[in-house]
Amino acid sequence: MNIVRRTTALLALLFLGTTGVLAQNNGTCGTGPAPASTLSYLESLASGYGIQTEDTTWIRLPVTAHIVRSSSGFGGMSESAVFATICNLNQRFVSARISFYLLERVKFIDNTTYYGATSYQPLMTMIDQNNVARTINIYYTDLSGMSLCGFAFYPLTGPGGFQNDGAVVMSFGCSQPEGTTLAHELGHYLNLPHTFDETSSDPMDPIAERVTRNFNEVPPRLSANCFTSGDRFCDTPSDFIATRWACPSWRVQLDLNNDLFRPDSSYYMSYSNDNCMSRFSPQQMSAMRATVNNPSAPRGYLTLNPAPVFGTIVGSPIKLFPQITDTVVPNNALFRWNTLPGATMYQLRVFQFNVNVFDTLITDTFYHALGNRLRGVRQYSWVVRGLNGGDLCAAFSPRDSFSTSTYVFAGINDASNTLQAKVYPTVFQEGTPLTLDGIQVGTTLDWNLKDQLGRVVCNGSLWPEDSGALIHLPGDLPTGSYRLECIQNRQRMTVRLLRLP
Ligand SMILES: [Zn+2]
Repeated sequence: MNIVRRTTALLALLFLGTTGVLAQNNGTCGTGPAPASTLSYLESLASGYGIQTEDTTWIRLPVTAHIVRSSSGFGGMSESAVFATICNLNQRFVSARISFYLLERVKFIDNTTYYGATSYQPLMTMIDQNNVARTINIYYTDLSGMSLCGFAFYPLTGPGGFQNDGAVVMSFGCSQPEGTTLAHELGHYLNLPHTFDETSSDPMDPIAERVTRNFNEVPPRLSANCFTSGDRFCDTPSDFIATRWACPSWRVQLDLNNDLFRPDSSYYMSYSNDNCMSRFSPQQMSAMRATVNNPSAPRGYLTLNPAPVFGTIVGSPIKLFPQITDTVVPNNALFRWNTLPGATMYQLRVFQFNVNVFDTLITDTFYHALGNRLRGVRQYSWVVRGLNGGDLCAAFSPRDSFSTSTYVFAGINDASNTLQAKVYPTVFQEGTPLTLDGIQVGTTLDWNLKDQLGRVVCNGSLWPEDSGALIHLPGDLPTGSYRLECIQNRQRMTVRLLRLP
């Protein structure tokens, strides 16, 4: 029995040890022992736990996030969904005083070979070709072809090269905002083995981590070996369960001293179910910090570049329109809010009842919903928040409702418009000329601009020599909505326009 178990462990070691890949299976699990380099590094830290004065400085680590899609751009997940995972990751690392920031917006990799990978090899190539050095590269991809939730590389074991080794690879399915897989994989990336490492294959093995924490047991009892066996941490109880388990566990297992194992389901590095997990142990946190906090540490290169200064985001943007009582044209709806200090982008969400109708990221302070994103004569509600790479958890504004009218078609689609031309843009700022497209050549075109009260604020005439012409509106035109009327050969067209500040 013992030989069979050891052989299984050895096969796992051969399979995973060559790549340094640790796999967390979706449902069951892969047994992934940490490489010797990680185990000896952790053993070298053991004498320091609890001796150094508590280091309370924050460690900030740069992340490059990649979303993998098919070659035609199919599949994947949204950038804001990735932001939600990083926000959640940061909350889970607060007690370790480690925070993760995004250096840039999410990168998209459109490659069907990577997206549909059924083995590690294409993903190793993907990492090698796309990793951004001195950052933690997190790839969000399908992984269903490998039945994996995610995997990560221990320091100095992955592809990518100097100051660029390894990555975290996450499945879409296990990248839910409240999931724990990302925290678990970051643990591996920062040198943490599973809590059951080296013990699950045979808990009675002399090399397995024993339950006792007494280093001076009276023979025949064996003394504690928690710093040199198992996961190398003495503050995580010995664990033997290498398959997904629901907490609390009623599984019974004795060690070589006949002590009963009592694995702790609350540790991210165990294989308990997501809802059981909530923490890293002090020694695990200390080891992760040691792995990055000096230039010669295994991932010390992550802190070589100074972290950018991100503005502090306080509160949420003030919404300008639509207001609660407003009715907007569904196929020409403008959402607008005030600039929020510190924000470099905004996330807009529109709901019908409690269903997300759309969820989009914008760098400007307005969003113009065209086409059929909204339907006519409906109640909607919306929220907006400001974000930056260092704060992906900012609060949304209060949720306010608005309603839509029937569709209003301007320009070429409007049945009442006999002049078949187009005007763009219909939302503009000072200095933006309006383009008229599709007008007749060689005959006068008269135009006028009316404000909301129907007063003509300016007008003019054109003699088009081309099917396209420009209208230059006055620079001091007040902010607000207008109607542009164009008349040519007794044909008429009216278009709604919006002048932004
Ligand atoms: Zn794992």
